[in-house]
Amino acid sequence: MEGQRFLEGKVALVTGASRGIGAAVALALAQSGAAVAVNFCRSAAQAEEVARRCREWGVKAQAFRADVTDPEEVRRLFAAVSAELGPVSILVNNAGMGLRRLLVDTSDEEWEKLLRVNLSGPFYCCREALPFMIRQRWGRIINIASVWGITGASCEAAYAATKGGLIALTKSLAREVGSAGITVNALAPGPIETDLLREELAPEELAALAEAIPSGRLGRPEEVAAACVFLASPAAAFINGQVLGLDGGWAPF
Ligand code: NAP
Repeated sequence: MEGQRFLEGKVALVTGASRGIGAAVALALAQSGAAVAVNFCRSAAQAEEVARRCREWGVKAQAFRADVTDPEEVRRLFAAVSAELGPVSILVNNAGMGLRRLLVDTSDEEWEKLLRVNLSGPFYCCREALPFMIRQRWGRIINIASVWGITGASCEAAYAATKGGLIALTKSLAREVGSAGITVNALAPGPIETDLLREELAPEELAALAEAIPSGRLGRPEEVAAACVFLASPAAAFINGQVLGLDGGWAPF
């Protein structure tokens, strides 16, 4: 599919696109011809740079600040994107955070924050995106979940619970809006080399993890982005309510 601009005329919003997986997704969507809204919360300079690199592909792209945990900010985000680039027809719910902690050591605040970023954020964004998608009878929603949301993980119970919830949201919404020409799918990456992973695991833990993966290495943000572009493409029109694993064979399901 490389080099094909099959998303020309579409507007994509990628949440948490200032860094890591989201930045790679934004660039890959731009390469496929979509106009791209690069959402960020704190990393303004990085988001501006991602938007600039998107524009190098000859598409419109702009950085938009919004905290996805705030429903009012999400409402304003969609209004601003619509005014500047046009209404969103491809939504990638990528913004997220990790937490590596024994359940008994997890505070109320940590639990609440994880839930709000990883699950409420996608809920608010879907709620804003759907009315236009339903009206135009075309839409793509791609939720970045995690393999931990399927298998569970020790010391990641809270994180895994938010991602399991996101998978249930994906499957339910696919049933709810499929007849309107909208697909809703989730990606379930295994360990991908980004800040999130580097902040949680020491270099020797990362090396041990890479060794335990049948493919013998960690994943790359660009590999998640490629799957995302495929799910947004016309070729994936009949793929709906699915969870696609991207983990080098680490946790087949
Ligand atoms: P990352 O490098 O830590 O980047 C996180 C992104 O989320 C940043 O752009 C950050 O924006 C944004 N963000 C965080 N809180 C936000 C908020 N309240 N509102 C808007 N944006 C917010 O993480 P990553 O590894 O790329 O992860 C991206 C997604 O993939 C997450 O949902 C994560 O759970 C999932 N995932 C990652 C892995 C992995 O191994 N890396 C594996 C499976 C799933 P600012 O910097 O601008 O605040």
